[in-house]
Amino acid sequence: MDAERMDDYLKTLSLHKIREIYKDESEKAAKTKLSYQDFLLKLLEQQILTKVERSINRKMQIAGFPKIKRLEEFDFSFQPQINEKLIRELASLEFINQAKNIILLGPPGVGKTHLAIAIGIKAAEGRKRVLFYTAERLTEELASSEIAGNLNAKLESLARLDLLIIDELGYLSLSKQTAKLFFQLVTKRYERGSIIITSNKPFEEWGEIFNDDVVASAIIDRLLHHSYPFFINGKSFRLKFMNKSD
Ligand code: ADP
Ligand code: MG
Repeated sequence: MDAERMDDYLKTLSLHKIREIYKDESEKAAKTKLSYQDFLLKLLEQQILTKVERSINRKMQIAGFPKIKRLEEFDFSFQPQINEKLIRELASLEFINQAKNIILLGPPGVGKTHLAIAIGIKAAEGRKRVLFYTAERLTEELASSEIAGNLNAKLESLARLDLLIIDELGYLSLSKQTAKLFFQLVTKRYERGSIIITSNKPFEEWGEIFNDDVVASAIIDRLLHHSYPFFINGKSFRLKFMNKSD
C-alpha cells in the first residue's frame, strides 16, 4: 500500500481520526477476519465520534458555564419539593424543541444555578446552542450594545440560540431603561427559543427588580406562557452541614 498517498488523501479529506487509527485497525481486522464493510464502518464510526465530541466541547466552551454542575450530582432527596421526574424529562430537551421556558424560583442555596447549568450541559451535549449569562452581565451587554448602536444585532444573535440561561435575576434591580431592553429580549425569544431563568425573588417582587410593574408583568406573562415553573422553598444546600440537628 502507498502509505504516503493514503496519508495525503486522509489529510485532504480531514479524516484525521481515521488517519491516526487505520493502520492498527487494519491489522486487527486482518486478525479477526473482519469484513471489508465492517472495517470501513468501524473507521467511519470512530471519525464521527471524534467529530461529535469536538462539537460538544465547542458548544460547552461557547456556553460559558461558570462551573460544571451535572444532573447526576444533584441530590433530589435533599430537595424533595423539586419534581425529579419532570426535571429528568426536561433533561431530554424536548422543551427546547417546543421553545418552552424553565423558571426556577427560590431562596439562595436550593440548587437553582446547579439545575440551570445541569440542563444547559445536557443541551450542549445534545449539540444545542446554549449561552449562560448572569442577569447582571446580560443586561450590561444589552445596555452597551444599545449605546454602541447595535442592539438589534445583539438581540437577533441572542434570539438565534437554542437555549438562553439567565441566572440570578433579582439580586440587582434594573433601571427602567435596562428593564425595557430585557423585555425586548424576552419578546424576541417568545415562542421562538427557550429560556431558563433563575431568581431568588417571587413573581410578586419582580416589579421591584424591573422598577416598573407594567413591564414586569409583561415579562412574566411571556416567560410563563409556555413554561415549567419550579417554586423551590427548601433548605439551603450550602448550610446542609450546619443544621444536622434540624
Ligand atoms: P442557588 O443557585 O439556588 O443559590 P446553587 O445551585 O448555587 O444554589 O447551590 C449551592 C451549592 O450547593 C452548589 O455548589 C450546588 O452544586 C450545591 N447544591 C445545591 N443543591 C444541591 C442538591 N440538591 N444536590 C447536590 N448539590 C446541591
Ligand atoms: Mg444561584
